[in-house]
Amino acid sequence: MTDDLLAGYQRFKSGYFAENRQKLRELAEEQKPSHVLITCCDSRMEPALIFDTEPGDLFVIRNVANLVPPYEIEGSYHGTSAALEFAITVLEVPEIIVLGHTRCGGIRSLVLNAKKMNQDSFIARWMSIVAPVADLADPHRLHDHATFNYCEQAAIGFSLRNLMSFPFIRERVEAGTLTLKGWHYNITTGSLKQIHDQDTISTIVDEAQD
Ligand SMILES: [Zn+2]
Repeated sequence: MTDDLLAGYQRFKSGYFAENRQKLRELAEEQKPSHVLITCCDSRMEPALIFDTEPGDLFVIRNVANLVPPYEIEGSYHGTSAALEFAITVLEVPEIIVLGHTRCGGIRSLVLNAKKMNQDSFIARWMSIVAPVADLADPHRLHDHATFNYCEQAAIGFSLRNLMSFPFIRERVEAGTLTLKGWHYNITTGSLKQIHDQDTISTIVDEAQD
């Protein structure tokens, strides 16, 4: 498997890297990404592929289930919050997108195991950010993908609200210099839905493929 990665690296180095050497050299001096994209660690989510972007375009923050924790100063290890702080206050990126996806293992484990998951596990503590989402799932429809799709979209709504709890984000949104969006990507059909808030969802791309 490592050989596969190194073979891929050789193709990249002699292909894309060689063909874009000047652009990448300029990019090394300064990055000016157009979007912060908060997405899941899931191996099937490839933002640069999905949005056809180039290095330097997206400031990507990945974590389990693409969650945004609430603003808090207790504790020391706030990886997602630190990345947001850098992207917004230093790079001054003008738009944040929370990008969720179907078949999300993090949301699935939250819904199915909310009551019995080992509450000391890292995943359980992390997923507790959106604990109320588990209660939105109809216990009689846990074999239905639509149940989990709804919970994934609700979790995006929670993250959008948590973004507004960060003073450096709220002040920019209110000043009109930063916008927040929530999207839900279907890894089976390739469709993309915009999540306006927890209750209002509209399809922006390819709903017909759903
Ligand atoms: Zn996921």
